[in-house]
Amino acid sequence: MLDGLAVAARIRGEIAPQVREFTSRHGRPPGLAIVLVGHNPASEVYVRNKLKAGDEAGFRADLERLPESAALDDVLTLVARLNASPAHDGILVQAPLPRSLGADAAAEVFDAIAPHKDVDGFTPGNVGRLVQGRPTLVPCTPLGIIELLAREGIAIAGRRACIIGRSDIVGKPMALLLLQRDATVTICHSKTPDLAGVARQADILVAAVGRAGLVTRNFVKPGAVVIDVGMNTLTDSSVAAAWYPQGHPRLASFQKSGRLLVGDVHPEVADVAGALTPVPGGVGPLTIAMLMANTLRAAQLVVGG
Ligand code: NAP
Repeated sequence: MLDGLAVAARIRGEIAPQVREFTSRHGRPPGLAIVLVGHNPASEVYVRNKLKAGDEAGFRADLERLPESAALDDVLTLVARLNASPAHDGILVQAPLPRSLGADAAAEVFDAIAPHKDVDGFTPGNVGRLVQGRPTLVPCTPLGIIELLAREGIAIAGRRACIIGRSDIVGKPMALLLLQRDATVTICHSKTPDLAGVARQADILVAAVGRAGLVTRNFVKPGAVVIDVGMNTLTDSSVAAAWYPQGHPRLASFQKSGRLLVGDVHPEVADVAGALTPVPGGVGPLTIAMLMANTLRAAQLVVGG
């Protein structure tokens, strides 16, 4: 098991003294503003964790809330204010935005974030720089996975990598980062024929789908490195009973609360993979650590460091 929690703690431990140094040199801490529109329960949890990590590392971390009823203009006005704020080096707009804002709202809001404050790396300028191999601010989840592979001494160059999922926030930037490190990269999606057969070619398999247990043993080449990005809530007791033997702590946890956070990778993959990230405790904590790293980087860019 690759311990994402431990690696993330190490990264955050390395960032904290740099934050202190920035603060004493510039008379203010690096600042992160998180915009939360509405009350999506999962978003509330993610945002709380990000703010806590920011506080602990010595950042100024502010929550900017808007009600569920906010109009698109309200969100854009808030982003414009944060773009102009000298106290905020990083801006993160928590997705998803309420549906009432319309299908194009997310793109419009992300486009409005000043590129040098775009700590999620979603704006077209930052995406373009990543595509061209001269990244500045890179999406936190794939960046965290690269950091994990590097720190665990897992080679990328010359290896076959397969990413299941082609989203703008995980799949595509993951593919680019692996490609730039000389992996031979295949991107799969919902229309890929023989998904298991394609995945089984990979030395490094990244699952970023959002389907509990999609990646079973027959997707995995023996010894492959498997990175599980998925975060799914399992509520079906028959699935939980099929996945875990009686007495397993994960099954006990399910039986206690009637729900369990699981990834896209089926537990049976642990018998085949050479290395595997758990859910929880794998990619999630790394994403937050890289948000801290990106905020510090954004602050250093502002002061020319
Ligand atoms: P997304 O935007 O919904 O994209 C999902 C991708 O999976 C799409 O490209 C889709 O293909 C593909 N897909 C769906 N069903 C498939 C199937 N049966 N076979 C093959 N491909 C399939 O999701 P996302 O934002 O990338 O997130 C993916 C997962 O990662 C979610 O569970 C999310 O919660 C989690 N996540 C975790 C973190 C973290 O920090 N741990 C961060 C971000 C996301 P099409 O393009 O063809 O529709």
